[in-house]
Amino acid sequence: MDKVISVSLGEVALKGLNRGYFERKLVKQIKNATKDLGAPKIYKNQGKIYLEAEEIYFDQIISRLKKIFGIVYISPCIKVEKDIESIEQGAINAFKEVLEQKDIKTFKVKTKRVDKDYPIKSPDVSRRIGAIILDNFPNVKVDVHNPEVYLYIDIKDSCYIYIERIKAYGGLPIGTNGEGLLLLSGGIDSPVAGFMMAKRGVKLNALHFHSYPFTSERAEEKVKNLASIMARYCGNIPFYSINILNIQKEINKKCPEDEMTILSRRFMMRIAEKIAKDKNINALITGENLGQVASQTIQGIQVINSSVEMPILRPLIGFDKVQIIDISKEIETYETSILPYEDCCTVFLPKHPVTKPKLEDIEESEKNLDIDYLVDKAIQNMEYSIIKAK
Ligand code: ATP
Ligand code: MG
Repeated sequence: MDKVISVSLGEVALKGLNRGYFERKLVKQIKNATKDLGAPKIYKNQGKIYLEAEEIYFDQIISRLKKIFGIVYISPCIKVEKDIESIEQGAINAFKEVLEQKDIKTFKVKTKRVDKDYPIKSPDVSRRIGAIILDNFPNVKVDVHNPEVYLYIDIKDSCYIYIERIKAYGGLPIGTNGEGLLLLSGGIDSPVAGFMMAKRGVKLNALHFHSYPFTSERAEEKVKNLASIMARYCGNIPFYSINILNIQKEINKKCPEDEMTILSRRFMMRIAEKIAKDKNINALITGENLGQVASQTIQGIQVINSSVEMPILRPLIGFDKVQIIDISKEIETYETSILPYEDCCTVFLPKHPVTKPKLEDIEESEKNLDIDYLVDKAIQNMEYSIIKAK
């Protein structure tokens, strides 16, 4: 009687012709994430992925698997031969284990016969196994409508028996949906935005703007720390860091004060687009959210968009702040995000920023600036590192 871990794939399993591609990516990511935990043997078997590992590593393996996108459920299973006596014994063992941890009063058996040649029909397997559980555990009852637990029996070339279904994030494996450049500030929103897109299979790169020496080195350290938390889910993150103090000074000197925020946002987008094009990245990602601050109005977004051609993905656009905070706590970026370091945007924060900017006005103001020169100059001094999970 072997113990294995099964992984259910959700959306990946629905991907039709691309399914093989998605599964291979996922298997590779699972292999990478678990190789230091006894290098489990990993194989696909009819819609699921299985890991054969030493049991001492199970908890650690499961906690790593929970952070891999594309996985919907994780179950520690008992694997037995598929003759009915072995299945009965396996079911008793699985049940005993769960009863040691939880007080269970009701259950229901759910059998799935992937092997259609199996001589006993699924409902009959369920009935036999249900009966043997009742015989062995006199304090539990069957409840077909609202059981406390299901005892799952998957009959394939072997039989996999499990009770626990541990929920993971679902989504799609990283790298199956192109690459994005996340504009990463030190705030609460942008790490969550990156997480949301990574969960849809986008491989992340990050770009941070600072105004050193007006902003401190510790402020940048904080952003790198955020990226290293995100890397737990998103894999290694190429991290670009750019000083825009010069640009902010120019805007401050030559443009109306109330346009500072929107003008510097347009510069951020232009710089981001240029880097993205150079690195073959397909889209920009921001943590913008409608109505949250002055620049995040429909008019603001329109004016920001027209500074670039590349799509700007804004996965948080319709979220409430409370929802965003909940996710940031869940992905463990919240505590770092709320550390009180200055951001480049606060350096020249206008007293009354325009909330409904008009593109003509903004373009008129930009005539006072040598845009291409300023963008290129900023990129020339770009710093680069690769952020790994911490
Ligand atoms: P966040 O919590 O992500 O900082 P926010 O609610 O503070 O967002 P803004 O300050 O208007 O909103 O920023 C909107 C978006 O612009 C951010 O989510 C981020 O994607 C990008 N951004 C803002 N400041 C920076 C920065 N210093 N470096 C990189 N991107 C930035
Ligand atoms: Mg911010």
